[in-house]
Amino acid sequence: MAQRPVVLVVGGGYVGLYTALRLQKKLSRGRAEIVVVDPQPHMTYQPFLPEAAAGSVEPRHVVVPLRRTLPRCRVITGAVTGLSHAEKRATVAPIEGETFELSYDVLVMAAGSVARTLPIPGLAEHGIGFKNVGEAIFLRNHVLARLDAASSTDDPQVRRRALTFTFVGGGYAGVEAFAELEDMARYAIEHYYPRLSTADMHWVLVEAMGRILPEVDLDMAAWTVKELTARGMDVRLNTRLESVSGECVVRLSDGDSFASDTLVWTAGTKPNPMLANTDLPLDERGRVVCEPTLQVRGLPDAWAAGDLAAVPDLTKGSDGATTAPNAQHAVRQAKRLADNVVLTLRGEQPVPYQHSYAGSVASLGLYKGVAQVYGVKLKGFPAWFMHRTYHVSRVPTFNRKARVIADWTQALLFRREVISLGQLQNPRQEFVAAAGSGRAGQLPPPPAEDDAPSGGGAAKAG
Ligand SMILES: Cc1cc2nc3c(=O)[nH]c(=O)nc-3n(C[C@H](O)[C@H](O)[C@H](O)COP(=O)(O)OP(=O)(O)OC[C@H]3O[C@@H](n4cnc5c(N)ncnc54)[C@H](O)[C@@H]3O)c2cc1C
Repeated sequence: MAQRPVVLVVGGGYVGLYTALRLQKKLSRGRAEIVVVDPQPHMTYQPFLPEAAAGSVEPRHVVVPLRRTLPRCRVITGAVTGLSHAEKRATVAPIEGETFELSYDVLVMAAGSVARTLPIPGLAEHGIGFKNVGEAIFLRNHVLARLDAASSTDDPQVRRRALTFTFVGGGYAGVEAFAELEDMARYAIEHYYPRLSTADMHWVLVEAMGRILPEVDLDMAAWTVKELTARGMDVRLNTRLESVSGECVVRLSDGDSFASDTLVWTAGTKPNPMLANTDLPLDERGRVVCEPTLQVRGLPDAWAAGDLAAVPDLTKGSDGATTAPNAQHAVRQAKRLADNVVLTLRGEQPVPYQHSYAGSVASLGLYKGVAQVYGVKLKGFPAWFMHRTYHVSRVPTFNRKARVIADWTQALLFRREVISLGQLQNPRQEFVAAAGSGRAGQLPPPPAEDDAPSGGGAAKAG
């Protein structure tokens, strides 16, 4: 190993950021060079994305800038497209410029997961995921723009389609996004859209299993369904999305079909497919096979954790169970991983990772939530309050905690901000039209199809 080993951290999300933070604290510059590679210049605190979409938290405050937080690391904004651990070389595609090779001594694989989609006709064209801050901002603008569209037309079909919001997948990410956005739309209609009624909205959650929220007990999941249904939301259990047509007509396995301008896919995740371009050992689900110490099996100087890692769950005995892909494990694994890297660099033995799952908290809109933590079950306001206090304690850096609390405090003093910044979806449209309009008085040419605002699918509408 080189005198000053290079520790390459692939991914600057939960695991990557927390690992690098701890490594920069514990290893002096002379001891190791820490390199963090991520396509985004920030870590995203994903549990706050539903609140960012609903406007309760400023989207910029749910991301943590890597360069500011990791001043003693080298941050590369780009993607690792593959690596040969046998040669200790990674291929990096920066956001701009030529791909290059990066040599390292110690690898921390933390590139997380991507949406797990199915080959459903029309899904790729019309659907949108809910995993990053861009998608959260887009959905906020999109939902509010659909209210504007519905309020500005007398065509009942256009109105019905605009006010139909379909979500597929009833895990916590899907349920929180579904409930938070409905809550925002309800508030907007009640306060600012006299021509619309909340009863005009049709919010549909499609879930293939017989329950939602597998992270909590069945009685809590059933309570959540009852709660959402009481708000007029339509939860379809044991139902699958079959297809989406060009006109955004959603067909479900229960035989129902309806037009919906909004289709959000939150039906699970899968390990980052980039792993297929590495020589790391993968299991049948495409996850990196790890030892309890978070070392990659058979490779003592390669480590992995988080959504892409198959880490034995020592709290469940030796039945082959692995830790679940969630933030609770990701953040704790990152700390253990960083400590183990430091131990092995000193020639000491790494310590196995062990954490008993504490439970889940989910918000279902302002002042509404569901939680099950260490066996304690909470519903409504107490659960919502616990959700907020837990996550603000977890969001990295004092700066982000302070800003999120400031956002919440402001929201107590003023009315909720429910305005669509639709131009964000297509900021050059007006300028392109003006530049292409030629002589005064001449009509501009129609924008290219990709540039055109659309009342159609979620992936297009503004
Ligand atoms: C909407 C939502 C809400 C959630 N709420 C909760 C919750 O309430 N509680 C909970 O426990 N969990 C929650 N989770 C799950 C939790 O956020 C994840 O389990 C956690 O982020 C996993 O951490 P990670 O580091 O493995 O992946 P991530 O945090 O996703 O980080 C992966 C990083 O790798 C980067 N990357 C991707 N490809 C490459 C590449 N080729 N090269 C380099 N870098 C790459 C990505 O840009 C990203 O920054 C939620 C998830 C979502 C989407």
